[in-house]
Amino acid sequence: MKPGIGNRGSGIGRNGDACFAALAQPGIRALKAYDPGHDLVALRRRFGAGRLVELGANENPYGPSPAARQAALEALDTAHRYPDPLGGGLKRALADRLGVAPAQLLLGNGSHELLMQFAQVFAGPDAAVAMSQHGFAVYALAAQAAGAPLQFAPAWAPDAAMPRGHAPNALASVVSARTRLLYLANPNNPTGTWIAADALAALLARLPDEVIVVVDEAYAEFADAPDYRSALSLLPRHRNLVVTRTFSKAYALAGLRVGYAVADAGLIAVMERLRESFNANSVALAAATAALEDEAHLQRVVSANAQQRPLLAEALRARGCFVHPSQTNFLLAGFGDDAAAVEAGLLQRGVVVRPMAGYGLPQCLRITVGTADENTRLLRALDETTKPTYPATDQRG
Ligand SMILES: *Cc1c(COP(=O)(O)O)cnc(C)c1O
Repeated sequence: MKPGIGNRGSGIGRNGDACFAALAQPGIRALKAYDPGHDLVALRRRFGAGRLVELGANENPYGPSPAARQAALEALDTAHRYPDPLGGGLKRALADRLGVAPAQLLLGNGSHELLMQFAQVFAGPDAAVAMSQHGFAVYALAAQAAGAPLQFAPAWAPDAAMPRGHAPNALASVVSARTRLLYLANPNNPTGTWIAADALAALLARLPDEVIVVVDEAYAEFADAPDYRSALSLLPRHRNLVVTRTFSKAYALAGLRVGYAVADAGLIAVMERLRESFNANSVALAAATAALEDEAHLQRVVSANAQQRPLLAEALRARGCFVHPSQTNFLLAGFGDDAAAVEAGLLQRGVVVRPMAGYGLPQCLRITVGTADENTRLLRALDETTKPTYPATDQRG
């Protein structure tokens, strides 16, 4: 705070942050700043470079395409210029790839930015936001910041102790005349679960045209279940549908921040009114365009994940965990009342996973599927931390 503020009898500054919060818009007053959880910089220092096993943020352990790295380096030569405010090169590449028009694309500084902006544009005190219980935390944040009421649909729970994911019917049921925006991640974070193609199509058919439906496909590249399909194929039939994607996960560019939305050109044009002109920076645009072209690299990443995911799930199940079915690069695993102790034990041994109490899943931990080596180190640390529920070795002899 600048010296002098609060000295004029206005009351500002007398009670620390609280009085400034009182000046903020109602939606902002109830918000809390992002809690980054563990201090990863300090942890990396403590465990040494490359020794910390980072499985807490669903990042891609294989790294970006070498072509993306090269393109990023070359883009630095023009760092003194503003980036292309239209993101033309990346939009053309994406349009070709996805079979849509460039005008149907909106680029973001990560898809997080776009998810927030959808609520800024479409939601408000009289325009509610619908989402699922155990849905991605950003949706609720976006609604609150826009001052919009939230409508929560219960997650489908085949076993009451282990909620698994979205119930499309429950989502459709919470939508009312005041709903303007519905968020849905498919596959979902943090559960890893997915909605089958026919159920998603049926949900869209049931929703009124005035409800903007944002299907967040941050993990779409990892999905390989026969009943999974991207919502992109539903775009021609539903002008109220938006599909968001990101370069943060399968393309391994989380640090550069590029995401995009695909929708009706008219809907995108309204979103463009609020977009910050240079939201996607030049290094990110260049890297994302090159990453998109390196299909072989993407395939290597996706195959490695598809190989490791069931192995890790099996290994966790063998240790007595309930592991939710996943179409992503992470697993939601149930550790019962031991979850917090397991998380702390892993951290002590240099393995970072994501606690889930904030998502209303205190018995679960979310674990990124790492490389074979990282997964081995995770399991070893887990075995040191917990008493296995069955003999770890054959003790008959
Ligand atoms: C990781 C993630 C995103 C991507 O966020 P970016 O801002 O693009 O890095 C979006 N939605 C979900 C559900 C995610 O898990």
